[in-house]
Amino acid sequence: MAAVERLPFGPECPVPRRVSILGVDVDDVTEDEAVVFAEAMIRAGRPHQICTVNPEFVMEARRSPAFAAALAAANLCTPDGYGLLLAARYLGSPLRGRVTGVDLTRRLAALAAARGYRLFLLGAAPGVAEEAAAALRARHPDLTIAGCFAGSPDLRHEPFLRQLIGAARPDILLVAYGHPRQDLWIAHNQPHLRVPLAIGVGGVFDYLSGRVPLAPAWMRRIGLEWLYRLARQPRRWRRIIDAVPRFTLEVIRQGRP
Ligand code: UDP
Repeated sequence: MAAVERLPFGPECPVPRRVSILGVDVDDVTEDEAVVFAEAMIRAGRPHQICTVNPEFVMEARRSPAFAAALAAANLCTPDGYGLLLAARYLGSPLRGRVTGVDLTRRLAALAAARGYRLFLLGAAPGVAEEAAAALRARHPDLTIAGCFAGSPDLRHEPFLRQLIGAARPDILLVAYGHPRQDLWIAHNQPHLRVPLAIGVGGVFDYLSGRVPLAPAWMRRIGLEWLYRLARQPRRWRRIIDAVPRFTLEVIRQGRP
């Protein structure tokens, strides 16, 4: 029943299989399927939420019941982190591939340009959303940017942000406040926004703007993105310990008969 509520889009969008990784359900979708779902959500009109899940999300959900509830209530949880693929295989229920926030954002920008959907970029440091939007528009000159704003996930800013986004009437809202805040922000504000699709995208604007380089493709392919991030941004070490050794140990524990 919960699955039907989650993605009630008819025969062209069958509800994907979900794999439970340490209690967080991740959808076994390919990038193409995620784009089909995203479009169905936009067409359906009422509010939907997509989360791009990685091992840090899973570990945070174990600590935070509110975050776990937001992930469980999201319409789609894509497997963003490579570690989730390894974990799912280890647990005997493999996922077909990754759907990362940055790739999904690029695909949705192409979809939006083709269909005339309006995109709003919320979050990141001042000016970064504008640079990310400019990079997307350089690739898709027909893309309509409904708005860009850094703002803040702080509760006190919510009334203003709701008004700003409501007036901009986007079809797709990308929120870059990092997890878990962006996903909680969407879950909390989405009922008041009248935006059909909102997605938490973490550091995607930093990547699209070129301010933070993406790990080389070969490192991403073999799951060493964390090592690249650790070398470039050593202040992330705590998060990386959570995402790599702690996550691995917990998955091994879950997999024990
Ligand atoms: N951020 C923000 N406001 C905040 C906290 C974070 O705009 O109060 C932005 C930050 O500038 C960055 C993004 O959120 O662009 C978080 O990126 P990160 O790579 O840490 O997110 P993750 O993908 O790990 O969730």
